Amino acid sequence: MGILYIFIIGTVFGSFFGVILDRIPAHESIIFGRSHCNHCDRTLSLRDLIPIFSQIFSKFSCRYCHKKTSLIYLFLEISCGIIFVSGWLGLIDFTQFLFIILSVILSTFDYRYHSFPLVIWIIFTFILLLTSSSVLTDYIWLILSILAGIFDLKIGSGDFLWLFSASLSLTFLQEMIVIQIASILGITYFVIHKKRVEIAFIPFLTTAYISLILYQFIQSYFFK
Ligand SMILES: [Zn+2]
Repeated sequence: MGILYIFIIGTVFGSFFGVILDRIPAHESIIFGRSHCNHCDRTLSLRDLIPIFSQIFSKFSCRYCHKKTSLIYLFLEISCGIIFVSGWLGLIDFTQFLFIILSVILSTFDYRYHSFPLVIWIIFTFILLLTSSSVLTDYIWLILSILAGIFDLKIGSGDFLWLFSASLSLTFLQEMIVIQIASILGITYFVIHKKRVEIAFIPFLTTAYISLILYQFIQSYFFK
């Protein structure tokens, strides 16, 4: 019962992050204003706001204008539910918990808009810095992010800012492994889709980070 309760709390947070995803780029208030359909602007009622279920019952479309809603909201709700349960069960520590939540939010922004919500990154990273210990080499990523903002390094500043936050829960070797896994995933995606466009890299970095955590967990659980 406890697990279900924690999962539901996670989905509520995921739903809120969906609101952030819509409203920050539109310069709308995150706290004030009722939720509305992005297409027809109709205000959503309580029955449209229940995480996961509302979307399933409305067949992933607006009840008023029938415009399909993006699956990104369902992804946010389910993944936050799983992350909250993982944290509650002690499968991940607080730093990893906070960082994975941040990564999921940043991934959705990168995927949808190719943008990086700096305010969200600052809030989460500030808490991460308070709750974890950083070493001098972590700050290389911050310097690289500034350089990427000035020069065209073919990698966005946001990716380096992500790496800085990631470094707070990783060793330098682990950071290198994460970058390699993400690069392999990114190249594979690029080859399959044959798209000559800028790809969102943070979703791949996030997938690589979670894979590493999962691998370490399995290794410590089964082969200790
Ligand atoms: Zn609508």
